[in-house]
Formats: sequence, C-alpha cells, structure tokens
Amino acid sequence: MEKNGKRVVILGGGVAGSLVAKSLQFHAHVTLVDPKEYFEITWASLRSMVEPYFAERTIINHRDYLTNGDIVTSHAVNVTETEVLTADGHRIGYDYLVIATGHADSVPKTRRERLNQFKEDNQKIKSSHSILIVGGGPTGVELAGEIAVDFPDKRVTLVHRGSRLLEFIGTKAADKTLNWLKSKNVIVKFEQSVDLSTLTDGQKMYKTSNGETIEADCHFLCIGKPLASAWLKETVLKNGLDAQGRIKVDEKLRVKSRNNIFAIGDITDIPEIKQGFLAQQQADVVAKNLKVMIEGGRECRMDTYKPHSTVAIVSLGRKEAVAQFPFLTIIGRIPGFIKSGDLFVGKTRKQMGLNPDSAHA
Ligand SMILES: Cc1cc2nc3c(=O)[nH]c(=O)nc-3n(C[C@H](O)[C@H](O)[C@H](O)COP(=O)(O)OP(=O)(O)OC[C@H]3O[C@@H](n4cnc5c(N)ncnc54)[C@H](O)[C@@H]3O)c2cc1C
Repeated sequence: MEKNGKRVVILGGGVAGSLVAKSLQFHAHVTLVDPKEYFEITWASLRSMVEPYFAERTIINHRDYLTNGDIVTSHAVNVTETEVLTADGHRIGYDYLVIATGHADSVPKTRRERLNQFKEDNQKIKSSHSILIVGGGPTGVELAGEIAVDFPDKRVTLVHRGSRLLEFIGTKAADKTLNWLKSKNVIVKFEQSVDLSTLTDGQKMYKTSNGETIEADCHFLCIGKPLASAWLKETVLKNGLDAQGRIKVDEKLRVKSRNNIFAIGDITDIPEIKQGFLAQQQADVVAKNLKVMIEGGRECRMDTYKPHSTVAIVSLGRKEAVAQFPFLTIIGRIPGFIKSGDLFVGKTRKQMGLNPDSAHA
C-alpha cells in the first residue's frame, strides 16, 4: 500500500503516463486522468487492422495494471497551482503533477469499442480491391507494409505530401523503404495531397492536389496529429509552452520554473524524435524522481534525462523492417527479427506488470 498521503496526479494514460502511474501506485496516492478507459500500445495498431485479434493484448484497461489508484475517465481542461479540473467536473488536488497528454486523437472511450473499430477496419480492407493510404510517415508506411504482406492481391496506393517517405529519419532509410514498397507493388505518389475535407467512405475517385484522380474502394488517413496541449494555453502553465505548443522541461523533466510539475513523452520540447520507447525511458526517470521527492530525498539523488540520437525501426509487414542506427541503416529480416513479429507487445505488457502472452490471465 502507499507509504504516505502525497497526491500524484497524472494527465494522460498513454505510453508515458500509464507507466508512471503503474510505477508510483504503491508510493503515493495516484490519480490517472485519461479520456479513455484503456492504455493502447500504439505501435501495434497497424497490425491490429490486418489481424484484429492482435489487439486483444494491446488494448489494456487501465484498471488491469493500476490496481491501487484512482482513475478519472475525462479530459483535463484546466490546471491551477493546486488542482486539476476535468471536462466532467472533477476537481482533483495534487502535490505533484505529471503531464503526458501526447497527441490529440479521437479514439473510443471503451476497450470493447476500440476492439470493434479494428474489426471494422479489417472488414474495410478485406472487402476492398483497391486501398488509398494518405500519408507517408511511419504510420502510412507501416500500414502499407501490413496490407501488402497480408493481402498481396490488393492494389495499394500511398499518397504523400512530402518529397520522400519517413521524413523523421534519414534519406537512406526512405530510399530503401520506397524500393521495398515498390517490390510489393505499392504505388507511391509524392508531392501531392488529397483534399481531406471532402473525403467520405464509399467514394471511389479521389482527386489529388495536382489534378490526378486515384480510384480506390476505401481510404485510410495516416497523417500527423496535433499536440494535446491547446488546453494548457489559458492556464497557469501557459508560459511553460514553446511556440509549437510543446512543454519546456529541464533535465530532470520538470516543467521549466516549476518544482512539483513534470512533463514527459511527445508533449515535451526534448530535442529528439518522438518515440514510445523514449517516452517509456522518460517515465522511468520521472517515477524515480518523484519517489526521491516524496521520500524527502536530496535533489542530487534525482535522475537526469539526456536526449537520444536517432534510432528508429519501422516495420514492413510481419517479418521485415527498416532500421536506422547512428552509423547504419538496414532493411530486411534482421531488423524485422527485432521488431516485426510481436512488435514489442509482450515486452511492453511485461513492463506494465501483465502476462506478456495473454490478455486473459
Ligand atoms: C501508429 C503509430 C505507430 C508508432 N510506432 C512507434 C514505434 O514503432 N516505436 C516507437 O517507439 N514509437 C512509435 N510511435 C510513437 C509512440 O506511440 C509515441 O511516441 C508515444 O505514444 C508517446 O507517448 P505519450 O504518452 O507521450 O503520448 P500518447 O501515447 O499519445 O498518450 C497521450 C494520452 O493522453 C491522453 N490525453 C490527451 N489529451 C488529454 C487531456 N486533455 N487530459 C487527459 N488525457 C489526455 C490521450 O487519450 C492518451 O491516452 C507510434 C505512434 C503511432 C501513432
């Protein structure tokens, strides 16, 4: 049981926030605020679209790993020096606050609804001969890879606004990925966009910005989401935001000029690419630092977080991937062996204190 009455409130039950909540639940009175009832292993979502059963292990009710804490299923809408206000009217007092609201995304509230969404996406893929993917970042590329490998008879077209794929990593990785997609008969079109305001499902002809028409039975939008920090702009933390809406943090991951408020994950201004495995490392640093503070330890015992150089693995179907390491970029079965089979799902479940192999134990 928790050792003292310190109240830690965590905003956002994604990759970073959930891990902090899990780690601190027996050290403080933890409250997790998240608009949905579950934690989602985001990097497995594309596999779940071609194999909906895969999502059984990747959509995890917060209550499964947070057995000793409060859960408020709502958006945080305001924060003061002492409390958080939520959209459904809760006022939650805090001694320590952790902000981990990542990117704004509209996903269903319950686990069951999210699982059904994957089944619907899967039906959409299965019943289509031709599929349009809008966006050539990691999400669009991974989805194209999943469909091309599991459904080689589908005609997949990927339209990307930029001049190359995977702009968050180097050109070598992008070129290798383009060749791989072409080898799987994926048609890739650069420097064009599709007018998103007019998109409907059931539409067969899609017009691109340079006047081309693409015929497809369905489409998937795989474009970047805005940061979920707009709600902070009218709060006491408004000066903690940079021009892009990211939260400025110091090396101990505290919001600049705040002693008891931390921020982690995609929402921060840490100069590195935004990735889940880094969000997890930041969560570990903050959990450790909060334990030190709660126990009245000295600041010198706190951990610091150093930005990482670009390491990324983008899966390409079930067995292959493209990986960028500091001095090496490789594509094929070796990086695929590291990531593409289980997509780190068992590892992540284990980290959350859950059975890596089954959602039912
Ligand atoms: C399709 C996809 C594939 C990816 N693949 C990889 C990969 O292979 N490897 C990798 O390392 N990373 C990958 N990433 C990136 C990784 O998922 C993110 O870096 C990671 O999720 C960031 O964690 P986070 O906790 O900061 O934010 P998130 O995981 O986005 O969580 C934010 C949480 O905050 C909640 N929230 C939002 N607004 C509010 C509010 N006002 N109040 C309360 N809660 C709020 C949201 O509901 C959500 O639960 C991928 C991302 C996507 C989308």
